[in-house]
Amino acid sequence: GLTVNNLIDWINNFSAKIEQNKQYLSDLDTAIGDGDHGFNMSRGMKAVSQKLSTKPETITDVFKQIAMTLISTVGGASGPLYGTAFLEMAKKSATSDDIGELLEAALTGIKKRGGAEPRDKTMVDVWSVLVPEVKAHNLTREKIDSAVAATKDLVAKKGRASYLGERSKGHIDPGSQSSGYLFEALLETEG
Ligand code: ADP
Ligand code: MG
Ligand code: MG
Repeated sequence: GLTVNNLIDWINNFSAKIEQNKQYLSDLDTAIGDGDHGFNMSRGMKAVSQKLSTKPETITDVFKQIAMTLISTVGGASGPLYGTAFLEMAKKSATSDDIGELLEAALTGIKKRGGAEPRDKTMVDVWSVLVPEVKAHNLTREKIDSAVAATKDLVAKKGRASYLGERSKGHIDPGSQSSGYLFEALLETEG
């Protein structure tokens, strides 16, 4: 099961990936949005890593602090959605330390909060393909890459990219790419 230490390792690894790729994430967002996704996530994850430098006692507290920090620092559409994901994991962690179950609760929360379904070209696409793979202990780097790439040819139905209609085709969804990094970080951290 998930421990405070491996949860913090996962999140710090995610934070490092966001930092390394913030320009790329913002470039993806420039094509179909307002060009701020990488900068939004970088601001948020820097604040999260700073916050977690004082180690919380329980995984529930870690999840709560991540959620609160993301909600107050990321902004845009993605801040409240990532915030909701971590808040739902905080709630679920009262009764489970199973990463698959926690991520499933997070996905349910993201869908409820943003109203997106699979194929709407949002982070929900990546989460809904990869959460079952985590649950089945079958997550791989290839599956992550292909779930992210699969958002390219979709027409956006939610968020800013939906304003472009058909013209949103041909570009990877930025929130799907950042979510891909979250799953990559998990894959590298899972003991
Ligand atoms: P903003 O669009 O407000 O500038 P960001 O650029 O930080 O916010 O985040 C954009 C990302 O948020 C999109 O690429 C998409 O993955 C995600 N997103 C936007 N709206 C929704 C929604 N309703 N449900 C799920 N994800 C969404
Ligand atoms: Mg944006
Ligand atoms: Mg914005």
